[in-house]
Amino acid sequence: MNIILLGPPGAGKGTQARILVESRGMIQLSTGEMLREAKSSGSEMGKKVAAIMDAGELVTDEIVIGLIEEKLSGDNAGGFIFDGFPRTLAQADALGELLEKHGATLEAVVEMRVDDDELVSRITARSTCGDCGEGYNDVSKPIPADGRCTNCGGTEFKRRADDNEESLRTRLMEYYKKTSPLIGYYYAKGNLRSVNGLGEIDEVAGEIKVVLDA
Ligand code: ADP
Ligand code: ZN
Repeated sequence: MNIILLGPPGAGKGTQARILVESRGMIQLSTGEMLREAKSSGSEMGKKVAAIMDAGELVTDEIVIGLIEEKLSGDNAGGFIFDGFPRTLAQADALGELLEKHGATLEAVVEMRVDDDELVSRITARSTCGDCGEGYNDVSKPIPADGRCTNCGGTEFKRRADDNEESLRTRLMEYYKKTSPLIGYYYAKGNLRSVNGLGEIDEVAGEIKVVLDA
């Protein structure tokens, strides 16, 4: 089963993708993660995208489509979770073509609905474990008092360079202008499933399970 997690920054796509990887053996393809890796490795492409990402703007379709294309060949028995891709109509068309080329289909596009106030407070409060990527939130899931990750015991935590109010405003605007039209696009194709992204992590995971198993 191949699925897309669609929603604004802070909707919880990465968190839910991790749960699906654990529970269903799916493979998470996060273009944001791939681009952050390129950025920290200092590759030519990484240098090109760094300032764009920090400002909260979208990198070119060509770059992200290329990243996804590289990952699609090879074994994917559990299916792919597209997280943060596609983000434009051109990317959505390209994904459709790539899947077709691999004889694969898109089973569902899960739209995660969250209101904007909640997005801003989630993002400005969030951090992740530098070792395992476990997510934390200053309000709802603080880093333990002993300073150790509950998942792996790691002691390094990081905040994203683009998780500040100004970049976030740009990211939200990019989402509404360029990505939210995909909701209509996939609705018309019959793939869209919407869940309420506002609940506890487990509740949202439960709702996603329901729409995927329906
Ligand atoms: P978010 O929390 O905003 O959903 P991501 O981790 O998915 O963040 O992406 C971080 C940044 O990486 C984006 O703001 C954008 O600059 C870039 N990026 C990630 N995926 C794409 C994409 N599919 N198309 C264009 N830019 C992307
Ligand atoms: Zn950890």
